[in-house]
Amino acid sequence: METGPKRQEKYFIKTFGCQMNVADSERMAALLSERGMSEAAAPDEASVIILNGCSVRQKAVHKALSSLGLMQEVKKNSAIKPVIGIGGCVGQLEKKKLFRKAPYLDFVFGTDTIDNLPEIVHRVQNGERKVVYADFDPSMNYSTETKVQAYKAQAFVNIMKGCDKYCTYCIVPFTRGREKSRTIDEVVNDVARLVASGVREVTLLGQNVNSFGKGNENVKRREPIELHNQIGKVGPRAGEENFPQLLRAIDSDPRCAALKRIRFTSSHPLDFSDELIECYAPAEKGGVARLTANLHLPVQSGSNQLLQKMGRHHQIEGYFAQMDRLREICPDVGLSTDLIVGFPGETEEDFEQTLRLLDRVQYDSVYAFAYSPRPGTRAAKLADDVSAKVKNERLNRLLAHQLKISEALYATRIGKVMEILVEGEAKNQKMAGVPNGAAPRVWTGRTSCNRIVNFVSDSPRSLIGKIVDIKITSSTPLSLQGEWIHPEPLAEVLS
Ligand code: SF4
Repeated sequence: METGPKRQEKYFIKTFGCQMNVADSERMAALLSERGMSEAAAPDEASVIILNGCSVRQKAVHKALSSLGLMQEVKKNSAIKPVIGIGGCVGQLEKKKLFRKAPYLDFVFGTDTIDNLPEIVHRVQNGERKVVYADFDPSMNYSTETKVQAYKAQAFVNIMKGCDKYCTYCIVPFTRGREKSRTIDEVVNDVARLVASGVREVTLLGQNVNSFGKGNENVKRREPIELHNQIGKVGPRAGEENFPQLLRAIDSDPRCAALKRIRFTSSHPLDFSDELIECYAPAEKGGVARLTANLHLPVQSGSNQLLQKMGRHHQIEGYFAQMDRLREICPDVGLSTDLIVGFPGETEEDFEQTLRLLDRVQYDSVYAFAYSPRPGTRAAKLADDVSAKVKNERLNRLLAHQLKISEALYATRIGKVMEILVEGEAKNQKMAGVPNGAAPRVWTGRTSCNRIVNFVSDSPRSLIGKIVDIKITSSTPLSLQGEWIHPEPLAEVLS
């Protein structure tokens, strides 16, 4: 089918939710750009408007739907008369029901049909109305190629999709389906291609990357790793490919030599194996040299009673043991987690156990939410018996508690020299003391342990993708500020 645009058209994509959705939006943008379209700065300049919605919490669904309402106004008032579509988990879950909620909507697509987007847009632009493309085929193997738009220092690389954990509160296994992994060879080839195009940091993505490889037979030439803790229970079995093998395969591939950093997200404590912890060791002690010193390992609660109700299949003592072992191997590791407050049956004592968890683990940051039931999940059948007032009060207490921890942890970095991968110009240019766009400019990047660092430079050239040494001079609970240390003159550093 001919799917090329009739004129130079623009798309506008609004993303809600997690990094998986951010990666999916990048893919949508790349697919539409391949069709000759360019990105619009605002929805009223676009002929195609897409909302990539998240359904993990009811509040997130409301956000996507209220944004859809605003797009209706754009459609009414714009001379371009854009077509409007909704995708992501919201599209996957709600499918044609969305047309009842938003009759002006033109198309709905799901998480597994993103590659059909150019065809869907072509169909609606040629007069079809209310197109739904939101099925997924559970028997299909997972194979894809990462698409990034232009030169970028960083790329998200999907390595697996779906989730088999079925935590009682979570809708993801219903929206993204059962776990499917790409093969190690396919991912390594993909990363090598990205490195050749200038990418210097990859984030390996999946709902539960630690169970990567489940069902993929291990090829004989790859050294099998003996699996000896909980990983065999739900993740890959001995003889199947696994996540530590993937990390080592990327790290040792000569085509990936220019890659500086490998990150990953997200994980489940059940599959967070000893083999994976050992990957964090220094390279000379058998670790994966380019694996960054950070870990996002969702724990959800500090109370075993609640972990059981949440169907998490792990206990808090095991989680502490994993964190202790990791810190022993990699003392500078930066940790973050996800937490739910106000889950059905949560008592004040359960909540205080979560506060004690924060004190014990010392996270750099946490993503905390008040529980809201998701229709269709097992937890939705439990009495939602913590009042909204108590949920809010606990959420605020938890965030205030964590803020103090983050503030103290960030302050310990003052005076240290940290290696930063520059991501771009900071949105807030106040630190430079001059108007936006003028030199000197404020640049922003991240440490290996995932802390944001801002610094000022009068470099006339872009620093994106450069690794620079920054001496930390001050901190806030959310970021660090510092000075660029370069012994040679700037021109030589940049040459
Ligand atoms: S591990 Fe649990 S919370 Fe995470 S995606 Fe799977 S079911 Fe949802």
